[in-house]
Amino acid sequence: MRVLKYINQTFQKKGIDFLIFFITSVCNARCKHCFYADSLNKPNSDLTDEEIRKVIKNLGPIKDIAFSGGEPTLRSNIVEITKQFYDDCGSRSFSLPCNGLLPDRIRQVAEQILEQCPEAKLLVNFSIDGLNEIHDRIRAVPGNFKRSLQSIEKLIELRDSKYLKRLFVNVNTVITNENYKEMPDQLKFFREKYDLDGHFIEVMRGTPKDPLMGLPSIEEIKKIHKLGIENDKYYANRKYDRGKFGADLGRYLTTTLVVGAINYLYYTQERVLEGKKWKMDCKAGETSAVIDANGDVRICELRERIANLRDHDYNMHNILKLPKSQQQINLAKSHACDCTHNCFIYNSINHTPKVRMLDLPIKAIKINSK
Ligand code: SF4
Ligand code: SF4
Repeated sequence: MRVLKYINQTFQKKGIDFLIFFITSVCNARCKHCFYADSLNKPNSDLTDEEIRKVIKNLGPIKDIAFSGGEPTLRSNIVEITKQFYDDCGSRSFSLPCNGLLPDRIRQVAEQILEQCPEAKLLVNFSIDGLNEIHDRIRAVPGNFKRSLQSIEKLIELRDSKYLKRLFVNVNTVITNENYKEMPDQLKFFREKYDLDGHFIEVMRGTPKDPLMGLPSIEEIKKIHKLGIENDKYYANRKYDRGKFGADLGRYLTTTLVVGAINYLYYTQERVLEGKKWKMDCKAGETSAVIDANGDVRICELRERIANLRDHDYNMHNILKLPKSQQQINLAKSHACDCTHNCFIYNSINHTPKVRMLDLPIKAIKINSK
């Protein structure tokens, strides 16, 4: 069954199946690497509750919703908004980045979403950029690291007591010139001390708030990616142990495909950092899109706004049909802006049959046999 699902997903008809939805512009952190700093904390221009209801009503089916912000848990009605995506769009996968500053709030939000959306899975991705003071310095919030650990503990407790298969507790780390030396210790720390579902590594993107923030050399990034693959194998097995993939594909095939996808992501990012192009087309605007907190629509997080929902009957699809959208989609396809953005690389992998059916499994088998 899962083999058929894999093949079916690869060849399914195009349409937006992954949406990044900025649920609020409000944030209680001040991260040095934030590339949205100029758009943060403008609650008066955020879509109102009523406007969000209209937007979701017009979306039609969308499988995966990735919330963003700001800090998403600061939107007071995040649970109701999630439930509306679940009911109206049939969404069954929600990811929630979280800066971990409010342990009780994230636990409450996660529990209510899982209760009210009984067929959905929820991935809570805690942003952790270093151990102790490195994290607090990058996030510019004293005590943030300690509070993030409390948040992680609360969610692991919730997962293990009630939602072993549907709640995914992950850490997400952005590689920068300020934390790369500590990455091996950080990966080890979380593997040994916390029973996470995954530890994702991202390459810093966009223009950071602090101009001194940058990337380490490509050689250093490749070293971290190598460690990342070992880590990913470990977490793929832990998820398999918890029954999070279903058992019918078997441990070897399941973990191989998961690790293969991550490896293909790293490979694509390394090509970009070396000045080369992606080996597939970017599907931004065709199978993925972005709605900002103020209602602006973009084909991806790194390209400029196309138009605002308030001027287009709160209908994202009307905006994606505009000539300006088509121009951006064509530019993306012509590899004019190949980037290192995890989400859009994954989504493009999922919609490129040659990569999913051939390149990815070949790479995966090679890694697994090492
Ligand atoms: S990176 Fe995220 S948590 Fe940090 S300031 Fe920006 S929006 Fe807030
Ligand atoms: S390649 Fe990157 S910047 Fe260009 S459209 Fe795709 S996601 Fe956006």
